[in-house]
Amino acid sequence: MLRAALNLLVPPLCWVCREAAADRLCESCRSQMPWIEPLAPRRSGSRLQQHWSPLEFAGPARVLVHALKFQSATALAGLMARQLVDALPPRAFPPDAALVPVPASPLRLRQRGFDHADLLAAELSQLVMLPLERPLRRESSIARGQRGLGRSDRLSGRGLRVRAARKAPVRVILIDDVCTTGATLDLCAEALLGAESKLVSAVTYCSVP
Ligand SMILES: [Zn+2]
Repeated sequence: MLRAALNLLVPPLCWVCREAAADRLCESCRSQMPWIEPLAPRRSGSRLQQHWSPLEFAGPARVLVHALKFQSATALAGLMARQLVDALPPRAFPPDAALVPVPASPLRLRQRGFDHADLLAAELSQLVMLPLERPLRRESSIARGQRGLGRSDRLSGRGLRVRAARKAPVRVILIDDVCTTGATLDLCAEALLGAESKLVSAVTYCSVP
């Protein structure tokens, strides 16, 4: 009721172009979402069984990811989760799997006050009715360690440490917003497989081509 009244006074704006848009993403920006083949090609040496990622990290998808990450637009996680569920086939979310967010570094968590991958995973968990589990920890030295590394080192995941703090679910779907090289997903998969997971796949909102 209050929201309806507010909408009349101040119409909600599109997250991307700031034009008025009832559901926060206008028709024009919606039509420019950079959809791609959702099943990512298998990378050699990857421990992931499958990697689903239906968008390219470009155009409106990039704007939405940045808004979620850097402008604390936490309400966006719901919109992004709905887009993921609409774009991916049901087999991307097997009924016996648990969702596990790729953990943010403790430094980033302190800076932002929230973990964007965790928000996305929590919204997805509601939509696909799969449990959300958080067995992974990112080592606190990562942010410090990564600052001293070059871009190629960071992209390769060197200096990044992820461990499982407890027994992991047998079947896991890792959740993250962006996949850059896949190095972080592989490190997480490695940690999960070392903590009693048997099958690890990943769902990311978008990927750097
Ligand atoms: Zn727009």
